[in-house]
This record gives sequence, C-alpha cells and structure tokens, in this order.
Amino acid sequence: MITTMFARTIHRRFSFHHSSISLSNSLRGNNSHSPTNLLRREMSMETERIVDRLKSSGLLQTKGLIGGKWTDAYDGKTIEVNNPASGDVIASVACMGERETKDAISSAYDAFSHWSKLTANDRSSRLRNWYNLLLQHKEELGQLITLEQGKPLKEAIGEVGYGASFIEFFAEEAKRIYGDIIPSTLSDRRLFVLKQPVGVVAAITPWNFPLAMIARKVGPALACGCTVVIKPSELTPLTALAAAELALQSGIPPGVLNVVMGDAIKIGTALTESPQVRKITFTGSTAVGKKLMAGAADTVKKVSLELGGNAPCIVFDDADLEVAIKGSLATKFRNSGQTCVCANRILVQEGIYEKFTKAFSDAVQNLKVGNGLSEGVSQGPLINEAAVKKVESFVEDAVSKGAKLLLGGKRHSLGMSFYEPTVIGDVKNEMLIAQQEVFGPVAPVLRFKTEEEAIQIANDTNAGLAAYIFTNSIKRSWRVSEALEYGIVGVNEGLVSTEVAPFGGFKQSGLGREGSKYGMDDYLEIKYICMGNMG
Ligand code: NAP
Repeated sequence: MITTMFARTIHRRFSFHHSSISLSNSLRGNNSHSPTNLLRREMSMETERIVDRLKSSGLLQTKGLIGGKWTDAYDGKTIEVNNPASGDVIASVACMGERETKDAISSAYDAFSHWSKLTANDRSSRLRNWYNLLLQHKEELGQLITLEQGKPLKEAIGEVGYGASFIEFFAEEAKRIYGDIIPSTLSDRRLFVLKQPVGVVAAITPWNFPLAMIARKVGPALACGCTVVIKPSELTPLTALAAAELALQSGIPPGVLNVVMGDAIKIGTALTESPQVRKITFTGSTAVGKKLMAGAADTVKKVSLELGGNAPCIVFDDADLEVAIKGSLATKFRNSGQTCVCANRILVQEGIYEKFTKAFSDAVQNLKVGNGLSEGVSQGPLINEAAVKKVESFVEDAVSKGAKLLLGGKRHSLGMSFYEPTVIGDVKNEMLIAQQEVFGPVAPVLRFKTEEEAIQIANDTNAGLAAYIFTNSIKRSWRVSEALEYGIVGVNEGLVSTEVAPFGGFKQSGLGREGSKYGMDDYLEIKYICMGNMG
C-alpha cells in the first residue's frame, strides 16, 4: 500500500506539472496546431466552463465538512484534483489528517444522540429530500463525476441515478426496522429483540464510483440512526463534497454527515483507533481492507468490506452468442474496466471459442475512446498513470507467456491515461492478468473444455465477488450458479447491480452486504431484553 500511495503521490505531482504546462500552453495559443493539442485545448476550455457553472450553483465545494461547517485543513494544506482526460487541475481541496478527523468523529458522536432519537419517519423524509435533490442536480453531479473520474457523461449521470436509488431505498427501509417478540421459556418472563443503530460509522470509499459507493453506505447508516464520517478518495473528493452540500440542504442536521479527505493513512488510523467509531465500512482494494480490519481489532469495531474481485465470465457452447457478446461487453468495459464486478477472465468453451472471440473483438473495436464529455464516447481515460502502467505490465506478462493479442494492447493515441480497448486470447489462468484485477479495458479470454473445468478455473482465486455465466440450459444455469464461490452471479446478464439486491463477496472479496434489506443489518446492533416478574 505504501508503494501505491507513493506511486500516487509521484503521479499526482507529475500530472500537476504536466497539466499546468499543457493547460497554460494551450490557453496561450501554443504555436502547435496538432489535432491532439487542439483536442486538449477544447477539453481544457470545457473543464473551465463546467467548473464555473458548478461554482455558481454552489456544488463545487473544496473544504471538508465538520459539524456542518465547511472547514480548511488546520495547517492550510491543499491537494489538487485533476481531470484524468486532460490533466487539468479542476480544484484544490483541503488536505486533512488526524486532527480534523478526530474533530469530525466528535461531531458525529455528538450528533448521534439527537439523530438516533428522531422518529424513523423524520429520518426517512430527510433522506427522501436528499434523494430528490440528488436527482434535481443529476446533470451537474454527472459532469463533476466525469471531470474528476473520467467516465463518460451518460454513465456518470447513470451513476447519479444509481447512487440516489440507494438513498430512496433506505429512506423507505428506515421505517421497517422491526424487532421481535420471542415466546418465553418461563411463564413470568417476556423476551424482546430490539434493533438499535451501532453509532458513529466511518465510511471509506474509492474513486471508481465517487457517488454510488458513498450512497450505498451512508443511506443505510443514516436510515438506521447512525451518524457518519466519510473519507472519499483523494482522487475524487469533489462529488462527495457536492453530495454533502445537498445533504445539508435536505435537512440532515450538522454533524450527522461529515467529510474529511487528504492523508489516507492518518485519517484511516484516526478512524480505526477511535473508540467512538463503532463501525468501519470500506470499499476499495483487498490490501487496504485487510489493514483496516486489523486496525479495527483493537477497539472491536464492526467491519464491512467491499473489496476487489476477479470475476469470471463463462460462455458455454450452448449460449446465445448475441446475448453473450452483449453481456460480456457490458460487464468488461463499463467504466473502462474499472469496476470491482468487471469481468476479469472471459472463459469460453472450445466449441464457440473462435466465433466468440471474432464477434467480441469486432464489438470491442467499435467502442469509442475519448473525453467522457464528448458525444458517443463509451471509454474514458483510466484514473491515472499508475493505472495505465499496471495494465501495461499485465498485458506484457500475458503476451510474454504465450497469450495472443487479438485487438489493441497499447496506450491510445490520445495520450494521457487513455488505453486502447484490448482483447487477448489464449490466456492461461496462471498468468498475472487472470490472477489479479486488471482494472482496465483489457479482456483476457481463456479456453475451456468441460463445465467442471470452467467451475474449477472460475473458483481458483481468493476473490469471490461477481461471476457471470452465459448458457441456454436452465439446468446448467442452476448447477453452475450453485457451484460458483461468488456473492453475485449474473446469468445471461452482464449488469447486475441494483439497490434492491444484496451486493458483496465471498472469500477475500469482503464481509457483509450492501443494498437491499440485508444492507441495513451491518448498521444495527441487536439488543435482547428479558423482562422478569411479568406473571
Ligand atoms: P484503495 O487504494 O484501497 O482506496 C480505497 C479508499 O481507501 C480510498 O479512499 C483511499 O484513499 C483509502 N485508503 C488507502 N489507503 C488507506 C489506509 N491505509 N487507511 C485508510 N484508508 C486508505 O482502492 P482504490 O484503488 O481506490 O479502488 C479500487 C479497488 O476498489 C479495486 O480493488 C476494486 O475492486 C475495489 N472496489 C470494490 C467494490 C466492491 O463493492 N467490492 C466496489 C468498488 C471498488 P486515497 O484514495 O485518498 O488514497
């Protein structure tokens, strides 16, 4: 992790200088009129236009939120947020650490006594206000997501709808936190089960879904009566801050929702060490998840982890080819391959292998790469230079070990962190690209003979988040779904996420479930009350 953080810091500095130069050159009207420079200039002007609009609507917040007050880092430090498509600096945000986090925890702790005592209806209606505001501002929030994260605008606006749906769903669930009455073993006793909020929750989220990952945690937490300290990724804090601004406007009281960002290790340590924080909910890499779990042991916090995946996507000979291509394309190339449920290994049965790889490569070739703000683009840039380097090294490893490049396989001519949509055939499960998440627009295709072999390859990993199968046999779809060691299985479907279904992984992909009625459990304590002398 230290290496990752270091690489990020280096990249951030690099991209800052690089972007400053490219932005200022382009605005000065640098004498070069190459298509790339013109495109870069257009992208920079577009960024400025959107930033101005967001500023005037009050949605471009750059300070942390502590106890309802927008707060600078106590030492005045800031950190730049870049547009990965152009390198432009979108804004500088407060770079916080231990002291700010401790204050945010205290605010959440103080607010808990009031928020947890509101009626479920009251909490519900404030959450619904928030949901309405998120939807009212979905265009601006979408633009913000595209600017800081890079995903195409249509997908970004889709993320706002998806994120908001968790707030709506949990606004409704707030009213259904039922307890139980247990038939007593003794005639003079009455036994009750009461569900109560766990207390202050720390929510640490990644950059690939800057809004939805927050909504999926904060929605149920607030619905249950918990208060939260959110730590968004330093790469995409602006969407989190805009959502927090809308939360304030929706009547969620000061201190109930706090946001700190900056030094991940210092903030993470303050959150895990605090006895006032009763739960950590984290979405991100498995390596960091393990650290947080270990850190939470000292104070015996509840822990929910949504970690990395290594999704198999199994295409059987009896699949409908068109359905399989559409589904595999959707699950592989969403967000340019940067989701935890993206197909990481496409396993194709030998009878359909040639047909599939040909049709799949043709479909991939048609994907348009570019700035997410441009019309028709479905593949934005990767989040940063470190992400491109990782993809390059995985592709290099696979090709050096005998895999065949069927399409792409290099950086895109647009430069920055754009990478060509890529298909690699004859991949073996031992290769790096099949063992770890590639987290980029690269589809590794593996060949298999039998159903048993496919299941064995699919389960041969420490991850267990999502898996996909394509088959026209109902019997096989049940058999294989039951045999897969995964928390989510898509059958003839590549897009499986919804607020009404439980999302989470087996094995090292995590603990707990988010979304659906099960998503409430992690934010509740179960209290058993035994009343004696009732005869
Ligand atoms: P990451 O490096 O683990 O970062 C996730 C969050 O943890 C960020 O806010 C990061 O802050 C923070 N963080 C990093 N080191 C920390 C530490 N020592 N203590 C406390 N917080 C720390 O993951 P990522 O690269 O952003 O996200 C990609 C990963 O997330 C992939 O593995 C993907 O599969 C996984 N993911 C899983 C799900 C799921 O539902 N299972 C969903 C989406 C993504 P900074 O960014 O500020 O450093």
